[in-house]
Amino acid sequence: MQIDGACPCGLISFIADVDPTRVMVCHCTDCQVLSGSAFRVSVAAPMETFVLRGQPKSYIKVAESGNRRAQVFCPECATPLFGMAPENATSVIIRLGCVKQRAQLMPAVQLWQRSSIPWLSELHRVPGSAKQEGFLPVLPKPTP
Ligand SMILES: [Zn+2]
Ligand SMILES: [Zn+2]
Repeated sequence: MQIDGACPCGLISFIADVDPTRVMVCHCTDCQVLSGSAFRVSVAAPMETFVLRGQPKSYIKVAESGNRRAQVFCPECATPLFGMAPENATSVIIRLGCVKQRAQLMPAVQLWQRSSIPWLSELHRVPGSAKQEGFLPVLPKPTP
């Protein structure tokens, strides 16, 4: 399946071919911190199908295992875009959030559940709204 993605500021965009049955959720603590969220969703693409436009920046994260991974992001808006081996990469692991077709890419596996955030399994019970309505605005207390 061909996908395309971009960061919101538009500096970086890409196209790639992915296998839609190989979308993964990762609950490892690195993914939580690097995504700024509770977990990260990614899909792999072979390097030869990956066409990148723009010049992203990368940060090398050394995992507990000693593995080095380049975490690639937009230097302007800081959107996480993909991860890859720092040298001789044969694939890119694309972050689903910046992929236009993300709604069609249902995860097939969840990794590192041992560090999964405990309230995730309760999330379906949390009240929601279609748009932004959530908590009532909290007004600052008047100073005496
Ligand atoms: Zn950007
Ligand atoms: Zn992870």
